[in-house]
Amino acid sequence: MATQICPKCKENSFTWSVEDENSGITDWGCYECGYHATENESEEWVCENCKEKTKIRLKDSETEYWWCCRCNKIDKK
Ligand SMILES: [Zn+2]
Ligand SMILES: [Zn+2]
Repeated sequence: MATQICPKCKENSFTWSVEDENSGITDWGCYECGYHATENESEEWVCENCKEKTKIRLKDSETEYWWCCRCNKIDKK
């Protein structure tokens, strides 16, 4: 499984798992720092940076933000 750059610790150890395909929720977790966030799959937008539809909405225990899973750009809105 491909790993991504963790938004928290910036290590290449951020990966996803789908626990329930019907829920529309994907879990993201970093095995380096233990950071965890969930993705709402109904929110997916075109990234301004790489022009691909890879910008997703991530939610963790403190905040919610946009994150591109292709170029790893974070957009706190
Ligand atoms: Zn991390
Ligand atoms: Zn991007």
